[in-house]
Amino acid sequence: MRAVWHCQEVISASPTGAVRQGSLRELNLAVVLRRIAAADRPPSRADLAAGTGLTRATVSAVVDDLIAGRLVAEAAPAPRTGAGRPARGLVLATDGPAGLGLEVNVDYLAACVVDLSGAVRHHLVRRADLRPLSPAAALDRLAGLAAEARAAAVRDGLTLAGTALAVPGLVGDGGLVRLAPNLGWRDVDVPRLLAGHPLAEPVDGIPPLVVDNEANLAALGELHAGPPGTASFLHISGEIGIGAGIVLDGTLYRGTRGWSGEIGHLPVQPQGRPCRCGGQGCLEQYAGQEAILAAAGLADADLPADTAAARLADLAEAGDPATLAALADAGTALGVAVAGVVNLLDLDTVVLGGGYAPLAPWLSPPVLAEVSRRVLTAAWASVTVRPAALGARSAAVGGAASVVRRIVDRPVAWLARAG
Ligand SMILES: [Zn+2]
Repeated sequence: MRAVWHCQEVISASPTGAVRQGSLRELNLAVVLRRIAAADRPPSRADLAAGTGLTRATVSAVVDDLIAGRLVAEAAPAPRTGAGRPARGLVLATDGPAGLGLEVNVDYLAACVVDLSGAVRHHLVRRADLRPLSPAAALDRLAGLAAEARAAAVRDGLTLAGTALAVPGLVGDGGLVRLAPNLGWRDVDVPRLLAGHPLAEPVDGIPPLVVDNEANLAALGELHAGPPGTASFLHISGEIGIGAGIVLDGTLYRGTRGWSGEIGHLPVQPQGRPCRCGGQGCLEQYAGQEAILAAAGLADADLPADTAAARLADLAEAGDPATLAALADAGTALGVAVAGVVNLLDLDTVVLGGGYAPLAPWLSPPVLAEVSRRVLTAAWASVTVRPAALGARSAAVGGAASVVRRIVDRPVAWLARAG
């Protein structure tokens, strides 16, 4: 997987030009590291000086710090093309800090290690029906999987510098899971329950554990791994519940209280089926995995959520009429909701993730049909619907990537620890 870093130049000196020496070093480290992260090919020190406006001497000193801190490495030498020694390009290090991404979902646990270059180094998944377990017992199992991932990272010479945990629910301040309806969790203090389990090394300025909604982290995974140039999109995770991550100009839009993206509870038939949220006619009741399985005649098949989508895709591929009709209806309901979002936010890309990713060939046409019927500007501004680059389970990857992105954005925190 090629990592794509979408970087925004947000650093600037104060209006008076007065910048403390410490923060000047901090700014220079961040500017140079971001340049290396975002470059199409490994830049030389001279390239970096030209691109940043810093002097060659400053760039060299900064690069030396980054190499000493295992954030940057010299790429293999380029072939000789003429006289003199070819300049060595610089790349992100693959033996320094890494991020740990964890996911707890209805019927699986996942742990993922992503190194600074964006490569997924380890991705462990355990199937288990977590609904009968208490939150403490489910998180104990997750900690066991995290310990395996951590041991694998340490064997690679990596240091886990932070953890992001994806949960299928509403997350409040301090990682308190207010409600995860499909897990049956309410007001679960995840950081407290995981406090006895070492996850990542402490690094000042990098939170040791961030708990976030799985749709948000899956959207960050798509931002990390998706095609370059896709900075604004709607990422929809279709599982038993349906969540969305809204990415605007390279930034996840979380909403005022961090609870944006509950697309599963947009009404698509206001007088329709009752929903477990207390509303009626919510999208989840028509396009959620259980609704699709029921419509396809598979309600009693007792398929784990992570194999249900593959099973539906197999049946659709084979031309099973009930499955094709179920997916067409689900796609239409999804299209009604998507059209509303596109009308509101003027997005041009919709990414089908989670369990929707393998079903994209059948869901996309009805979604596009509803978009072209309902979006005011559809005649002039086309909308692309595509499967997620990471497919299902991008939340753990997105979580791990969000950790390494923090380091790229603020390398001084990591260097202070390393130094
Ligand atoms: Zn609902």
